Amino acid sequence: MQENSYKKSARAPWIAVICTVLLIALCVFAIFYQRYFNSAEAQGAAAITVHFIDVGQGDATLIICDGEAMLIDAGSTSASDAVTSYIRRQGVNSFKYVIATHPDEDHIGSMDDVLSKWNCETFIASPTENDTYSYAQILEVCEKKSLAITPPVLGETYSLGRATFTVIGPGEITPDTSINDSSVAVLLKCGTCSWLFAGDAGSAEEEFMLSSGADLNCDVYKVSHHGSSSSSGEEFLSAMSPAYAVISCGRDNDYDHPHDVTLRRLKACGATVLRTDEEGTIICYSDGSAIWWNTEPELRFQFSEK
Ligand SMILES: [Zn+2]
Repeated sequence: MQENSYKKSARAPWIAVICTVLLIALCVFAIFYQRYFNSAEAQGAAAITVHFIDVGQGDATLIICDGEAMLIDAGSTSASDAVTSYIRRQGVNSFKYVIATHPDEDHIGSMDDVLSKWNCETFIASPTENDTYSYAQILEVCEKKSLAITPPVLGETYSLGRATFTVIGPGEITPDTSINDSSVAVLLKCGTCSWLFAGDAGSAEEEFMLSSGADLNCDVYKVSHHGSSSSSGEEFLSAMSPAYAVISCGRDNDYDHPHDVTLRRLKACGATVLRTDEEGTIICYSDGSAIWWNTEPELRFQFSEK
């Protein structure tokens, strides 16, 4: 009898350990299943997905609509693995369009990699050139693959599945035009939903777009120049009247992007702000009439109170 009760008490801790391990495994499985189910369900109802890829300081946006893919910018050279592996994970076989908004390293650093790994039907790039290694690498890949560089033509509209996008910038490029103000800007539409991308366009290009009479109204604004104070002027914001504003920037970046004054202007125009430095990669889903996200949009403002 004594031996038996000894055995029972020795077994009890093991049973408790096994139960705990099983319970933890069940919880982990439930969390992963829910995440997978939620993302699959979100993707399933969407006609278009817009992925603001977390590339640290820089821009790279992947857009997929009805199986057709488009990339606006490709992040800096150091983001190459992050960008190419992300694109691969989304099952992209080739690009219908790739846009290089302007030839700054944080937008085109990894573009040579993307263009050499994936075929691209139409490669649209700013007419402004740059005397950098990254830019030379792009020219080399284009030559190797006989890929023509299509200049942006104002008002030109392209189709991506059921979606369309229209070139709304840059305006006329003069010797005084800055690289940022030569950014290719497009308004993407799917059903009644729209997104505006303008690279790092500053006040001069914003003024041009306002005066051009182009439709600037959008639901989602990819905040130009990573939230710099030199972009996203009040007039431009009120013409767009965006419900959401996505800022692509690196955590603790050297430029203090996004600037407080820009965050204040975005708040004043009523936009909900999402930031890749806080959320990681941000995915926007739409069925052409509604928009939803992979993350809970929150109004986040980190003012340095003065
Ligand atoms: Zn930039």
